[in-house]
Amino acid sequence: MNITILRIGHRQERDARVTTHIGLTARALGADSMHLAGSDKQVKESIEKVTKCWGGNFAVHNNIDWKKAIIQWKKHGGKIIHLTMYGISIQEALSQIHTDDKLMIVVGAEKVPSELYQIADLNVAVGNQPHSEIAALAIFLDRLNIKQGIDSFTHEYPGGKRKIIPQAHGKKVIKDEIAQD
Ligand code: SAM
Repeated sequence: MNITILRIGHRQERDARVTTHIGLTARALGADSMHLAGSDKQVKESIEKVTKCWGGNFAVHNNIDWKKAIIQWKKHGGKIIHLTMYGISIQEALSQIHTDDKLMIVVGAEKVPSELYQIADLNVAVGNQPHSEIAALAIFLDRLNIKQGIDSFTHEYPGGKRKIIPQAHGKKVIKDEIAQD
């Protein structure tokens, strides 16, 4: 499944940390890329630094026009999934998503343009209470992985310089093939 995240409404001064965490969460749960509406080179660089260190091919596209990105995605057969507390339930949405779909998952920051509710193929609620775009994205991606029979935490990240060896206590990291405790 090809999955990208579209982050809209990003305000450089206020949202840098949350937008970075959206990218990191998407990467950690198996998405392929993030499109950032607006420009924030530092967010792009922070996420790319993590990818360089920990592996994989997660791409960040900076300074994207959200409407053009959506139109292009749809033109190439992709589906638009807008995460919003006003949408249909995640269970109902997942029953309408197929494992070979190409998904663009849209998350907002502040109030999103009302047009988005019409342009989206599915407006999906992760519960009908307001919470966080990071939480909504994490839960949605995890449920999507489960639907495909994938464990969210067994994705491969080839080419990384570091790999964690899980420990009950303490930290163990393989760094450039040399174990570091
Ligand atoms: N008040 C804003 C509005 O009405 O659009 C929402 C702001 S909320 C802090 C930021 C983003 O978190 C939303 O655009 C949405 O993508 C996501 N979000 C928050 N709660 C959600 C929920 N229950 N289900 C799905 N997405 C949610």
